[in-house]
Amino acid sequence: MRPFLPAIVVSVAALLGAAHTPAEHPAPRTTLDIYFIDVEGGQSTLLVTPSGESWLIDAGFPGAGTFASTPAGADTARDAQRILAAAHDAGVQRIDHLMLTHYHADHAGGVPELAALIPITQFIDHAAPLPEADAAVSGTQAVYDRYVQLRASAAHLDPKPGDRLPMNGVEATVLSSLGATITTPVGGTGAPNAACAGPGLPAQEKTENPRSLGVAVQFGAFRFLDLGDLSGAPLFALTCPADLIGTADVYLVAHHGGLDAADASIFATVKPRVAVFNNGPRKGGAAETFATLRGMPAIDVWQLHRAMAPAVTNAPDDRIANLDEATSAWIKLSAKRDGSFTVTNGRTGVATSYPTRH
Ligand SMILES: [Zn+2]
Repeated sequence: MRPFLPAIVVSVAALLGAAHTPAEHPAPRTTLDIYFIDVEGGQSTLLVTPSGESWLIDAGFPGAGTFASTPAGADTARDAQRILAAAHDAGVQRIDHLMLTHYHADHAGGVPELAALIPITQFIDHAAPLPEADAAVSGTQAVYDRYVQLRASAAHLDPKPGDRLPMNGVEATVLSSLGATITTPVGGTGAPNAACAGPGLPAQEKTENPRSLGVAVQFGAFRFLDLGDLSGAPLFALTCPADLIGTADVYLVAHHGGLDAADASIFATVKPRVAVFNNGPRKGGAAETFATLRGMPAIDVWQLHRAMAPAVTNAPDDRIANLDEATSAWIKLSAKRDGSFTVTNGRTGVATSYPTRH
């Protein structure tokens, strides 16, 4: 019988291991994961760092999902439920940092319902909207008033350009806030930028969008840029007349890829391998922005939605998460410290790999 004994011992150990290991000792994280959540032309982007910290940038619309909607209960909140689904997929039980780029309803409206679904430890924002913001986009003040009640009972940061955010596992630097931008390079050379031409595009909305909190996220050799709806002079100032931000592997195109994000100089400076559009079928994703990117074939465009405007040349379907409003799939990005990453289309489950850039 002796020859069989070791094999039996091994088998029992393997069985016990199989029964206990996943729950008690989850595999250590090694990647920075980013979920671009479909909030139908708003923003909600969930980052989970290799140390397991969760960082949500914006929380989509309130209630039924329009600018006129008000919070109507967490159970039926379209966008808060979608964020919760992404958090569950990522294996996180709380939002360690909720950062709001600005106070428009498509970015900050979903916070009250989300807070009823999952604990939020710390809020990061640009303090308060201008008094005239509500006249420009109706409902902005009400969104802020609802949000600030929640913020009052939690940790709060309103960082300035150049500040490092308190994230573990990644290096997160604020590039813009309150209409101000960094004045010394964060990743760029500070040298005059040959890609600049003309004065830059005017902001379509002039009170809150140009005050967006924008960040660069560095994880090893991988770099990600999220500028919210930054537009107008503050967007242009990051790359022109001098390059202050350098390159990034992935750029979440400002203002949902709207008309005022179409300036070629930012794409030519950032040189992203992947440009993500958090557009809706009829919001963001301007024909002009797609046209700018068509002239830059080294940049892969990924879209949360197929843009319906007739003048738009969309990316191939396999790089579009939602072909119509019948689905609400996310785009999931998973980056390694060496700078390589995969982008997975949540609709098809197919992942595309991008090797380390040389
Ligand atoms: Zn927006």
